Amino acid sequence: MQLGNIMLASAIRTIPDYPRPGILFRDITTLLGDARAFRKAVDELVQPFVGAKISKVAGIEARGFILGGAVAHQLSSGFTPVRKRGKLPAATLRQTYALEYGEDEVEIHTDAVSPGESVLLVDDLIATGGTAEAAVKLLRQAGANVVGAAFVINLPDLGGAQRIAAIGVPVHALVAFPGH
Ligand code: AMP
Repeated sequence: MQLGNIMLASAIRTIPDYPRPGILFRDITTLLGDARAFRKAVDELVQPFVGAKISKVAGIEARGFILGGAVAHQLSSGFTPVRKRGKLPAATLRQTYALEYGEDEVEIHTDAVSPGESVLLVDDLIATGGTAEAAVKLLRQAGANVVGAAFVINLPDLGGAQRIAAIGVPVHALVAFPGH
């Protein structure tokens, strides 16, 4: 993993105490709004997976849609959304996961991937890895071969990247920030 892509790190804005006191919110809207930084982030997310025959990118709602759509275009692959409960119109698979307070649920369509399809998971940030792990479980339930998970930001102190690696999915992240 690259620890310090300074150009990308400096394009990310940090909002203290959002959405709760003590959280440093890593806001990628500033990166997305910067043409050079956006392009560089997408190029670097894609780079390890060029030639990997990714047939679909799965993006996690909502920031993973923006990045994942661009990554899918670059890899000439399809895109499938991993959404919060109740948003997808057709039959779904659902996975519940723990949050710091309470729990949340994500869904994919039952026909989002075909058995054996190679899928790359994309989101903006990995913290505890709970969201990404739920997405991997869903994709595997549908028969996908999850070949990697790519994030712009890793918060290594929260252990999410290790958690995803431990379930057999290689993690690729561009920038790491200490703390949470
Ligand atoms: P987790 O499931 O703990 O890995 O959290 C990852 C999800 O929560 C991602 O979809 C992130 O967009 C969001 N998230 C968690 N922590 C932060 C943070 N410090 N700044 C911005 N987004 C965050």
